Amino acid sequence: MTPVDENRTERVDRLDGVHAWHPFTQMSEHRAHPRLFIERGEGCWLYDTEGNRYLDGNASIWTNVHGHNDPDLNAALVGQLERIAHSTTLGLAHPTGTRLSEKLASIAPEGLQRVFYSDNGSNAVEIALKLSFQYWQLAGQPEKTGVIALNGAYHGDTFGTMSVGDSGGFHGRFSPWCFPADRVPAPVCDEAGGIVHASDMSASLARLDELLAEKAATTACLIMEPWVQGSAGMRLQPRGFLKEVAARCRRAGVHLILDEVFVGFGRVGPMLVCREEGVEPDFLCLAKGLTAGYLPLAATLTTEAVFEAFLGRFEEYKAFYHGHTFTGNPLGAAVAHKSIEKIEARMADGRHAETLAAFEAAVLNYGLGSGLFPVVRQRGLLAALELPARPVAERTGLKVALEARKHGLIARALGDTLLVVPPLVISSDEIEFLFQQLTRATQIVLNASPSPTGA
Ligand code: PMP
Repeated sequence: MTPVDENRTERVDRLDGVHAWHPFTQMSEHRAHPRLFIERGEGCWLYDTEGNRYLDGNASIWTNVHGHNDPDLNAALVGQLERIAHSTTLGLAHPTGTRLSEKLASIAPEGLQRVFYSDNGSNAVEIALKLSFQYWQLAGQPEKTGVIALNGAYHGDTFGTMSVGDSGGFHGRFSPWCFPADRVPAPVCDEAGGIVHASDMSASLARLDELLAEKAATTACLIMEPWVQGSAGMRLQPRGFLKEVAARCRRAGVHLILDEVFVGFGRVGPMLVCREEGVEPDFLCLAKGLTAGYLPLAATLTTEAVFEAFLGRFEEYKAFYHGHTFTGNPLGAAVAHKSIEKIEARMADGRHAETLAAFEAAVLNYGLGSGLFPVVRQRGLLAALELPARPVAERTGLKVALEARKHGLIARALGDTLLVVPPLVISSDEIEFLFQQLTRATQIVLNASPSPTGA
């Protein structure tokens, strides 16, 4: 390793202050707090420019699967790099992408054999929406243009995905430029360590029935994040909800788009939620864990029936005109293929199940057992720990995340909900460390500014 240059952190800190504008970040706060520069990663650990290490409790924004600097993924990446770094998939193909399509089709529900690549989760969703819209035009039902989405959804930051999303704090101001979507209330389920505290999907299904009875003939698709709504609140859905929705969409002739950008690739247990539930959507959107957090790559899978509707003579203008320059990049495809093989191996030999069990036990022990968090939600390798209610301006969640850094943990808060989303390969010792430091940081912050009500 190269020796740490004493001036380096100071220099990049100055440059960041002058040039950087970070996503989803109130830059006034960013400028006011000590900035952290991650220089390298090893396994589940991140190292800053001063050589300090931190457990990556956020899996580098929910993407990392096999840890950082994984030798197998590195080898797959270098192997591809030595052949070609990028070639377009616009009218050409590359064998790495083609082999990945076969792999994706093998883990997806049987009917989803067609793969359309892109390079981020928003795009994977945008593509599914546009494919559904165009499909109905080509199928002679152009009146089917409506969309149904869930309250509290998050599908990305482009205008199409903001239109079907419902994260007011992030996107509300753009609504005048968004298209309308019909809404179904998101069902509620508080579950942790396998214990279900609240579970209600009746209001959601009743509203969906109402909407479909009234509008199925003019509705193109329903879009949802199955099992967990992530970015807009980390809300769990009751098990079985997905199946109920899928059956209703099928009966009503409305496409089902599943956004597994966050929950896919083992994050909540199974490789894919839809396959686990025996649900075959019309479109399946994948990103984040697809390349194990290495490179930007996304995929939208669909059926042969959808694909065939787009076939025809050139002058019929049935082709799907959507594509981005770096769509289906072969470096990402090479890493994704290797990553899926590695996840399959972990699932086959029981390592994945062991990690899930250790995580669940830690959530019970530290999350529920500590008494610090009024609400704890967990499914698979994700947990949401709600802090006691405090005024928004106190920024308690952010304070806990900043305090956790001092104890060697990178944590992320969504408002006053602490999110725990580690790499899938986290060890039992690392899980212990993660929860110990998170509860410690929480105690320090709560003790430093006790609630006015004493709660
Ligand atoms: N869908 C879901 C469910 C997500 O969680 C996200 C990202 N948090 C997206 C879509 C958008 O993905 P990206 O940030 O790669 O555009």
